[in-house]
Amino acid sequence: MAKVYITRQIPDSGIKMLKNAGHEVVVSAKDGVLTKDELTSALKKDKYDAVLSLLTDHVDADVFDAAGKQCKIFANYAVGFDNIDMQAARARDVAITNTPDVLTETVAEHTFALMLAIAHRVAEADRFTRKGLYKGWAPMLLLGTDISKKTLGIVGLGRIGTRVAYHAVKGFGMNLLYYDVKRNEDFEKELGAVFEASVEDLLSLADFVSIHVPLLDSTRHLINEARLRMMKKTAYLVNTSRGPIVDERALGLALIEGTIRGAALDVFENEPNIDKRLLESENAILTPHIASATEETRQRMSEIAAQNIIEMLSGKIPPNIVIVK
Ligand code: NAD
Repeated sequence: MAKVYITRQIPDSGIKMLKNAGHEVVVSAKDGVLTKDELTSALKKDKYDAVLSLLTDHVDADVFDAAGKQCKIFANYAVGFDNIDMQAARARDVAITNTPDVLTETVAEHTFALMLAIAHRVAEADRFTRKGLYKGWAPMLLLGTDISKKTLGIVGLGRIGTRVAYHAVKGFGMNLLYYDVKRNEDFEKELGAVFEASVEDLLSLADFVSIHVPLLDSTRHLINEARLRMMKKTAYLVNTSRGPIVDERALGLALIEGTIRGAALDVFENEPNIDKRLLESENAILTPHIASATEETRQRMSEIAAQNIIEMLSGKIPPNIVIVK
């Protein structure tokens, strides 16, 4: 029997799978993110063979060392793994896994929830109505903009970006541009999408820009002050990927100055803190990193993370092992 440590309570289906596979499971009793000290002390307290970590855990060399040599895997409960020091993992031969695919559709849906909400001023109109300001139908009240037939620019045409693209074209008749380090000509033919060779070209042409790249050195502040200025004044920025991909201070200023029309964000540069300008902006919709947060998807993420641990502990290569070149 192996011992598995889970850094925070997660949906129980994965925990049941681990127990049914004969493993002992210890779940952190804290109702919140463990500090680094709390995480390292918890891991030193016992000898764990596997850890199920969350994107809020900063897993670095100290954490791996606290877990010790018998710990073979950190199964991250997220598709992103920018919270993990991959070099330190490789140096210690610890396997890292993620939870791709099962959350793709949910995040694509949330992207559209944000895009429609900002274009149709849904959150602002809700606040207006609750404040008792609605005095009757009016021809000029809270005018927004259509998304149908507009141009969507997708930055990062991976699993999630591709699903967003399908919904945009098939559901809303949007024109599609995309920018990625890899070109996909089959996709271009299938959806009539146009590849832009630079992110700058995409930004200058799109009515809506949706970000779907992972957080890497090459994507940190990919959307900065200069690039925000390249966007149309009428354009909207949607980010459901990772906060630090957008320079949040520059975005706050851009909204105040009218450089762009609005932004809809699920992720922030210094979570859980959010730039004051964004919090005060009527042109921003902010959700608290919930793009994958449906009951079905969070259960599936729990199961996939558990499956990765079960396979690793039975001597197999886990299905979602992350390899960074
Ligand atoms: P993916 O790996 O399938 O797609 C990422 C795409 O980005 C790939 O096509 C890749 O070629 C491209 N890319 C990488 N570096 C690039 C660069 N420098 N410039 C342009 N393109 C680049 O990943 P995915 O499953 O679609 O997920 C995308 C990201 O969404 C994840 O890394 C994660 O950070 C984020 N995410 C957020 C939430 C949330 O709760 N808000 C949920 C799930 C995923």
